[in-house]
Amino acid sequence: MQIITIITGTIGENCHIIFDERKNAMVIDPGDEANTLIKTISDNQLSVKAIVLTHGHYDHVGAVNELKAYTGASVVAHEEEKELIQNPNLSLGMFVDPAFPVPEVDSYVKEGDEILAGDISLRVIHTPGHTQGGMCLYTDGVLFSGDTVFYGTLGRWDFPTGDLSKLTHSILHKIFLLPDSTVIYSGHGPATTVGEEKVSNEVYRWLSI
Ligand SMILES: [Zn+2]
Ligand SMILES: [Zn+2]
Repeated sequence: MQIITIITGTIGENCHIIFDERKNAMVIDPGDEANTLIKTISDNQLSVKAIVLTHGHYDHVGAVNELKAYTGASVVAHEEEKELIQNPNLSLGMFVDPAFPVPEVDSYVKEGDEILAGDISLRVIHTPGHTQGGMCLYTDGVLFSGDTVFYGTLGRWDFPTGDLSKLTHSILHKIFLLPDSTVIYSGHGPATTVGEEKVSNEVYRWLSI
């Protein structure tokens, strides 16, 4: 599996484009800059099978509809994120653009489901806390963590549907159970590993609250 990460938008969201040897692809969190994403897909001759949303915040979904129109791929999100995705007050889209486009989602998934494209299979890990329907995607030693965990720190829990105790639980009892060698590609900032975060992540600071 190859991974191309493109930083999009005004707050630097990581869009991950992943693909197998036969160019079957998935796009995780197309946050903005649809033209750049489309050029990358075209330059690499990728066949995009799915657009996967770790969660519904505006900085992760802003280019969904343009990408869906270009690729014909189906858009996938967690079933508990439906309300947030459909409401720009909850997705925060309203605060950056009064006409923020609500992403068109084709299918909703849940814990343990597999999202497929060619040789790639992403396993859904439901990780509420940053948002209620936030999810991480795991495949072959790689985790796409959205805004649940970052290099050295954790996601915010003060936006609609956020919850600190759920967030720390998701990190400690779901993400940290993965092998230490798992490489984490998060929604903002550099990549890290489960082993490194188990040692240094700020999540431990918030456990006693
Ligand atoms: Zn977010
Ligand atoms: Zn974000």
